[in-house]
Amino acid sequence: MPSIPPLIDTHVHLDLPELAHQLPAVLARSRAAGVTRWLVPAVDGNHWAGLVALAARTPGLYYALGLHPWSLGASPTAPLAELAHRLASRTGAPPPVAIGECGLDGLIDTPLADQQWVLEAQLHLACDHELPLILHSRKTHSQLLGLLRRYRPAPAA
Ligand SMILES: [Zn+2]
Repeated sequence: MPSIPPLIDTHVHLDLPELAHQLPAVLARSRAAGVTRWLVPAVDGNHWAGLVALAARTPGLYYALGLHPWSLGASPTAPLAELAHRLASRTGAPPPVAIGECGLDGLIDTPLADQQWVLEAQLHLACDHELPLILHSRKTHSQLLGLLRRYRPAPAA
């Protein structure tokens, strides 16, 4: 019987505070099912430090930093500046492997124009640091594709 190849969970919010007390058991069940790596996208700046610490102490756990459209708050300017600083200074060991979770959501009260400028700031950072994006989109696929066509990283040399 062929063995199952190692599995990677590419999108799992293991850093959510409500999951913290169950995390060792969740990781154990995940490992028992064959998952060897996890990519945890951040949702807001308040949890970035905890996520970086979680990645540092959990072998196989990788992370992305970003601002989710559900978590923009009143002023996303400060978290965006912190994100730019973290990426430029490579704060945190290991460094993030992507930017996200970010995107657009047509089903929430936050105006799309507000969501879009925050997403565009993250698209700039992704291009500048040559990092992939973890995108969220609900009822906004055409707007999102339009933005992605405008922000393309430079072709690899
Ligand atoms: Zn998510």
